[in-house]
Amino acid sequence: MDKKKVLITTAIDYTNDVIHIGHAYQKILADCLARYYRGLLGKENVYFLTGTDEYGSTNQKAAEKRGITPEEHVDEISSKDKAELDSLNLDYNRFIRTTDSDHHETAQKFFQNVFDKGDIYKGSYTGLYCEGCEAYKTMSELDSDGRCLLHPTRDIQKVEEENYFFKWSEYADFLKQLIEAKGFVLPEGKRREMLGFIEQGINDLPVTRPEYKVSWGIQAPNDPEHVIYVWFDALINYFTAAEPEGFWNDDTHIIHVLGKDNARWHALLWPAMLKSAGKTLPSTIYVHGFVNLNGEKISKSKGNIIRPSELVSQFGADATRYYFIKHGPVIEDVDVSVDHIKQVYNADLANGLGNTASRLARLAETSGFEFPLSELKKWDETFTEHFNNFRVDLAVQYVWSKLGVLDKHINDNKPWAIKDAPHLQKILAWEIDELREIINYLEPFIPETASKLSAVFGEEKISLKEQLFPRL
Ligand SMILES: [Zn+2]
Repeated sequence: MDKKKVLITTAIDYTNDVIHIGHAYQKILADCLARYYRGLLGKENVYFLTGTDEYGSTNQKAAEKRGITPEEHVDEISSKDKAELDSLNLDYNRFIRTTDSDHHETAQKFFQNVFDKGDIYKGSYTGLYCEGCEAYKTMSELDSDGRCLLHPTRDIQKVEEENYFFKWSEYADFLKQLIEAKGFVLPEGKRREMLGFIEQGINDLPVTRPEYKVSWGIQAPNDPEHVIYVWFDALINYFTAAEPEGFWNDDTHIIHVLGKDNARWHALLWPAMLKSAGKTLPSTIYVHGFVNLNGEKISKSKGNIIRPSELVSQFGADATRYYFIKHGPVIEDVDVSVDHIKQVYNADLANGLGNTASRLARLAETSGFEFPLSELKKWDETFTEHFNNFRVDLAVQYVWSKLGVLDKHINDNKPWAIKDAPHLQKILAWEIDELREIINYLEPFIPETASKLSAVFGEEKISLKEQLFPRL
């Protein structure tokens, strides 16, 4: 990474329902990356953006069903989503809502830029539409019953309407070149999948909906009888937030973190929109897998759902973060269960980090020695290499392997049994130095614990009052 600044974004969540742990995984991953880059480049050089996607027919209908206005509906869901993210101690720079006024203005200007380029024309669309995806579908994208693979409980709609179309097909060669260059879409499997989509052919895309059908949207600047199609508007959120803050330019490494259901929009549509509007392209589209719960897809209708805050109240924010960083779907889908979270909590945090820190603190305290602070080393290459590859799972395992070496040293040397004071001091000094180094690696993963431990072991006279990660 040769750029001075980094922008990290998550997908913005659709406000049809409050987010669950599947969505939260992505936010934890992005927060971990943002904290890492802040440590590397300085706080002022990193911008972390998340938020909610609030327009479109699904939200309009959800509000109608509840007998409230769309504004009331999205205000409620968006603030609950934000509270869920805050429970995980996410340190974002902005929580953007597509209903924010600056986004309205930017989305309309952006649309106008694409229109002025000659890339938007009037046409009519006949075909299928999934309101769950807010997307047009072809038969090949549906299951054998003609239902959306992601929304099997919803009826697919047949739509026939006048729209404005984006000349997406004209960007096929540009997209092919962009995605053939390694590193733009990660991981590799997703890059090949995107190339496959280009090969199947890219068709022009309706980028407005008629106002009489969908009134809950941003008005198209060229025609008051149309609103901007929700995906076209939603993708622009990144530009709305980052550009005025100086994070949408060639000096910035722009990283979009998202789930596999959003990969096509980000890898294929968004770069074409940016190219058409004459804006900087993102650097990397990072696509992660899905979280399944107890062996099944997370589904509200099946009652198979957990909110992040529920895990936080049981295990704490740091432990929830730790679990998902280590075991989350960084590439492939994973299956999680509360039992597994508890098991990992007890093994790695209660018996692992918590126990080692309290053992060493107790030994340091009872020995009465002072431990002069040595200068901390920078994060080593193995660690930074894992982050460069987005492998936060390997990065956290690497830190825990250091903890394993320290544990073994403590068990082998049995400092609690050493009677010879200078020898004891030597052993403890080495062990405390090691722990200090490990603590220095913790901030991106478990920031609250990192800060508590830094305070305790950042003193020459060590004293730990609190029990970290009590056994569950
Ligand atoms: Zn769908």
